[in-house]
Amino acid sequence: MTSLNAPEDITCTIELCEAVLSLRGHALGESLGRIARALLESPQGGYFQGDLPETSDLAEEIFHGSAFFGRYAVSGRIGGYDYIDRMRLAALARLTARLLQARADADRSARQFEKATEQLLLQTQILDQIHESVITMDLTGFITSWNKGAEKLFGYAATEIIGRNIIFLYENQEDEEDPSQDIFLQQGGREMEVRRRKKSGEIFWASLSLSSLRDNTGQPVGLIGYFMDITERKQAQEKIHHLAYYDALTGLPNRTLFMKLVDQSLVSASRNGSNGALLFIDLNRFKPINDTLGHGVGDQLLQQVAVRFKDALRDDDIMARLGSDEFVVGLFDLNQHYHAGFVAQKLLYAMEHPYLIEGHELRMGASIGISTYAQDGTDSETLLRLADIAMYRAKKCGENDHGSYAFYSQEMNRAALSRLHIETGLRRAIGSNELLLYYQPKINIEDGRIVGAEALVRWQHPERGLVFPSEFIPIAEESRLVVRLGEWVLEAACRQAAAWQRAGLAPMRVAINLSAGEFTVSLPGRVQAALRRHGIDADWLELEITESMLMIGTDDVIAIMEEIAGLGVTLSLDDFGTGYSSLSYLKRFPIHTLKIDRSFIMGIPKDQNDCAIAGAIIGIAKQLQHRVIAEGVENAEQLDFLRNQGCEEIQGYFFSRPVASLEMEKMLREDRRFGVERCPDSVDDLN
Ligand code: C2E
Ligand code: MG
Ligand code: MG
Repeated sequence: MTSLNAPEDITCTIELCEAVLSLRGHALGESLGRIARALLESPQGGYFQGDLPETSDLAEEIFHGSAFFGRYAVSGRIGGYDYIDRMRLAALARLTARLLQARADADRSARQFEKATEQLLLQTQILDQIHESVITMDLTGFITSWNKGAEKLFGYAATEIIGRNIIFLYENQEDEEDPSQDIFLQQGGREMEVRRRKKSGEIFWASLSLSSLRDNTGQPVGLIGYFMDITERKQAQEKIHHLAYYDALTGLPNRTLFMKLVDQSLVSASRNGSNGALLFIDLNRFKPINDTLGHGVGDQLLQQVAVRFKDALRDDDIMARLGSDEFVVGLFDLNQHYHAGFVAQKLLYAMEHPYLIEGHELRMGASIGISTYAQDGTDSETLLRLADIAMYRAKKCGENDHGSYAFYSQEMNRAALSRLHIETGLRRAIGSNELLLYYQPKINIEDGRIVGAEALVRWQHPERGLVFPSEFIPIAEESRLVVRLGEWVLEAACRQAAAWQRAGLAPMRVAINLSAGEFTVSLPGRVQAALRRHGIDADWLELEITESMLMIGTDDVIAIMEEIAGLGVTLSLDDFGTGYSSLSYLKRFPIHTLKIDRSFIMGIPKDQNDCAIAGAIIGIAKQLQHRVIAEGVENAEQLDFLRNQGCEEIQGYFFSRPVASLEMEKMLREDRRFGVERCPDSVDDLN
């Protein structure tokens, strides 16, 4: 196939390229005609888009594929045109067609690009003009675009935020899930109300609708998020909610909300089998203040009372103002029903100080009625009604002083009253020599000698005679009086030990019992000071603690115990087996002795479980190299069993009840030996 190859043909090719590149319309046609004439050395002819002249000697169509671009035609050469000339004109036409086609393609692409750019610009303008903030992010949450609305809403310029992760804007980064992992989103879109953080740090409510962003094959490549600030709407909603459920004067829940909250708590109380109580509080003689000093003063007084009540209560307690001078409290974490009486007492104490309002010093009391769940009622309406009735009963007896409380149930009233008597009596007893210590000997199982004595507190009550600790220690523990009581016991026991030491008696351990409330970081210091004050050696003293104290927080407990052990004072674990000691912890505590609880000794030798437990505790103590003592030994069978199991010390009525100090001293002076010999008729191995 002939092509354009002579040097003049190259010239013509270059000219052709330049013409197609730089010319359009008539000028291009002229140029193409001139090139054709020059190539074929023809005086006439040219490029024709329409009909050809009749005189044409040689013509060639210019087309590429289905595109037709016109024709070349030449004429007038002396000697005419041969086959080679036809081939050359055909080659020129092909080349021209290709170039024209390429130019048309390029023009189309350029037009399309221009159009796309224009459209993009338009879209960006639209995005920037709309008020909502629109952002896009990739599948891993990194922000890829950020419109003007987003800049305005969040305060970040696009340049600051593009490339950062969306999590950066969350109020609470831990709480929210990664939107890209959201299954709803993957399926389509999703709308939600969220809280987001602005550049200023301000948190606001936004409605967020998310939809997925896909490429032209339909594959998800990211997310589009539309944010709208809905803070105002939310605030309005909250305001409406507040108006419907809260008391405008004090900000406390109102009756409607209170009943709802109580009903909710009752559902969980009935599920957990826990106790609850409602306290109906009515201020005493509020009306005269309101009438004489005016509503302004009355309102301020109510506000201050509300604050004091709130401060006195726990966060979980529910409190509301029912109206005028009536308040109500719901308690649902009560261990015992009568604890509601302590809370009522606390509220009355909280009211005691005078209120200073507009120059007036006002005193206020209250009457509190208490109903208990599930004893008195099981629904909020009944409980509130009965608490109201109880409140009137309280009002009758306490209108003259700072206030009083009464339970709806008479039986609870009696119990509360007697507890109150014990508490006030004990407060007095600690300071006025009504307490005393009894001592119960601890005996070596091998030779029957006294190795120690447990100091047990007694209350010599002026009217009731000797009162046992089971009656007053729990009340002391609840009212924190136990710390003062404990200080008294430590002091009295050390004083006694010092007297015995001075009397030349052989050293033995005087053990005192501690309550959980006494087991604090100040304990080692107090023990050391008491030892010094009385000049006794540390091996005269032992502290009996219970498993519950080990649960406070392991590291603190170990530190306190180590400090005590460092003084040379021994620690024994009382009532062992009744708590939940983890055996691995037990190894870490500097405990000297495990004291098997009396409840396991009681069933020996008949109860197989008790025998197994007591035997196992002795085994554990030996493994951990602790000493082991059994308390509550009441008969020879128990003694035999314990001896056979390898128990080292014993304590119980079988040998001696707790006795007054003089009696104890007598036993020590006599170097009393208790009978620990094997019973002649006992079976050797009771296990
Ligand atoms: P505990 O520390 O387990 O004391 C043993 C209790 O069992 C004593 O009762 C004791 O009299 C009694 N007991 C001893 N041997 C026998 C026996 O063979 N049979 C029977 N049935 N009982 C026996 P007590 O003196 O009434 O003390 C009761 C609890 O009160 C003590 O239990 C202890 O937890 C607490 N307690 C006593 N004194 C104090 C104290 O000064 N401070 C503190 N925080 N608690 C104390
Ligand atoms: Mg004890
Ligand atoms: Mg005990």
